[in-house]
Amino acid sequence: MELVCVSCQQRYDADSLRTRCDCGGLLDLILPESGAVDVSVYNTRLRAWRGPDSSGVWRYREFLPAFDEQQIVSRPEGNTNLYHAPEIARDVGVAELWLKHEGENPTGSFKDRGMTVATSHAVKVGATMVACASTGNTSASVASYAAFAGLPAVVFVPDGKISAAKLGQTVAYGARIIQIRGDFDAAMRLVQDASRELGIYLLNSINPYRIEGQKTILIELLHQLDWTIPDWIVLPGGNLGNTAAIGKALAELRDRNAINKSPRVAVIQAEGASPFYEAFRSSFRSFEPMDADTVASAIRIGNPVSYEKARRTIERTDGVVEAVTDTEIMDAKALIDRSGIGCEPASAATLAGLRKLVRTGVISPAARVAGILTGHVMKDAEAVMTYHLGNGTSPGRFANQPVVIDPEMSQLREVLQR
Ligand SMILES: *Cc1c(COP(=O)(O)O)cnc(C)c1O
Ligand SMILES: [Zn+2]
Repeated sequence: MELVCVSCQQRYDADSLRTRCDCGGLLDLILPESGAVDVSVYNTRLRAWRGPDSSGVWRYREFLPAFDEQQIVSRPEGNTNLYHAPEIARDVGVAELWLKHEGENPTGSFKDRGMTVATSHAVKVGATMVACASTGNTSASVASYAAFAGLPAVVFVPDGKISAAKLGQTVAYGARIIQIRGDFDAAMRLVQDASRELGIYLLNSINPYRIEGQKTILIELLHQLDWTIPDWIVLPGGNLGNTAAIGKALAELRDRNAINKSPRVAVIQAEGASPFYEAFRSSFRSFEPMDADTVASAIRIGNPVSYEKARRTIERTDGVVEAVTDTEIMDAKALIDRSGIGCEPASAATLAGLRKLVRTGVISPAARVAGILTGHVMKDAEAVMTYHLGNGTSPGRFANQPVVIDPEMSQLREVLQR
């Protein structure tokens, strides 16, 4: 097992604590060569109530770095539902739609899948402190997994820009919280310096072990579809770690004969935070970071760390990148929410983007689509209340406004008959 630079192919020891190559390139973890995987073993492992087999990450360990069982820090995570959503499929105009709800992970976002692998690696290499920069969900996940591992955690968050629920989780799980006067990208720069100069183990998705764990979103999804391959995988893109992970998973699944064709990948960004979309439009000839602004705080990122790896995913899967407005995101969220599934704003970019890609003819009405919902509906109550109540602005198109009445049957009758 080795780390390999995606830009210059320089190799490093898998346990070296570097997060970048000397040339500045990102590092990929290369697993040892091994043969075909018989995926039927995963059905057998599904029976486990405890131990690695009960985790929707470690169950798929043929595609993960190896650890001794006592090094593994697991809640366990994964095992998230794949919802068949025929009504939403009809509404956006595709033949089949499944929604994989990564908000059903232990701390409410897909970050837990990467965190179980990276925290286990921190334990393996004897780290004494872990850190991350975060728009909220990474900090909640780091705080929880560090507490499970008995490691002190320090998280860097943009001051005043993360939701109460995410900050609350992080406070509650006991991490040291440093609020940065600046945006996420500033927090990200500072934590990388801190990790290099102070020797703190970095748990952001620049850490290749995070990407390894996040591959299991796709692997578990295909397992749930009994290894039939959808035409498209649609997901939101912020720092682009997931986009990188899905591309790596697809390549490895094919290498090891677990699947014999690949879905196309569509990554959706918010218009106010769309540097990857702009790069895609230039056929990846240019890439310009931007000042990010969107209601979808989990993807409010102007300089995505995993750009180079994500670009590879799009190129290798004949993928596309699309951008949608905040109004499109919040209207899509309202549909997912009132279907009973629910998700946070960034996750709804998936549905908003799917709708746009069907409208523009990129995704065909005959397509079978799997969308990734990245975070839980309870992660951002502020966004829900602003959309439905207005709170000084006009409420959203699908607003569901509470009605105030006196405790009188006559008034109740009148309201219910309206
Ligand atoms: C982190 C996060 C994203 C962005 O994922 P990337 O891998 O950084 O592109 C999207 N949605 C939610 C809910 C997140 O927590
Ligand atoms: Zn390099």
